[in-house]
Amino acid sequence: MPLSRIDGARRIGAESLAFLLAADCPGCGLPGTLLCPDCARALHARPVRRVTPGGVPVRAAHEFDGVVARCIRRVKEDGQTLLVRPLGAALRAAIPGECDDALLVPVPTSRAAFRRRGYRVPELLLRAAGRTPHRMLVSTGSHTDQRGLGRDARARNVRGSMRVRHPLLALPRGADVVIVDDVVTTGATIDEAAQVLRRAGYRVVGALALAATPRRSEHGVNG
Ligand SMILES: [Zn+2]
Repeated sequence: MPLSRIDGARRIGAESLAFLLAADCPGCGLPGTLLCPDCARALHARPVRRVTPGGVPVRAAHEFDGVVARCIRRVKEDGQTLLVRPLGAALRAAIPGECDDALLVPVPTSRAAFRRRGYRVPELLLRAAGRTPHRMLVSTGSHTDQRGLGRDARARNVRGSMRVRHPLLALPRGADVVIVDDVVTTGATIDEAAQVLRRAGYRVVGALALAATPRRSEHGVNG
């Protein structure tokens, strides 16, 4: 191997090592690892069910708590996309058989969030779960961040926040769809997505999420 290539490989190796050494487990803070074995086990799906105020049944791989919540925050706020792989595996384990024939439609990521992160979290999770995201909903750019808002304010905030893509880009009317989000808090975002999809002629059979906030809480990282 030419010397320059060996140098290059060494440099990349050293950079990866430095990256790993600078990392710490998002679950427990253990240094020198992107995710320790104990916290990786904590990510195995423990599905929970919710029903949105609008009556859409939601299945989530986890409660939004502990290790899972900290991993999701790393992905959403710190750009740690390597964690998408174990999180996607948890999502895959929570996808019920009824979803096999349904189209999986992620809730849209606002333009501001996409600019900030450079990726759409629900789509990344679906791809990591081995499923195809059907981007049929787009953000209208009219709503602001849901964080810190209560139940009623969230519902008002998401109204009119999304629309179905141009019919030429969307899928056949009448298809069964399952709405997908990373975190379900009050269910306001899911309800808005369901309404928009139904108006466009789709049959919403349910929703899927990586995590749902425990029932006592109304304040999470999403809608
Ligand atoms: Zn850990």
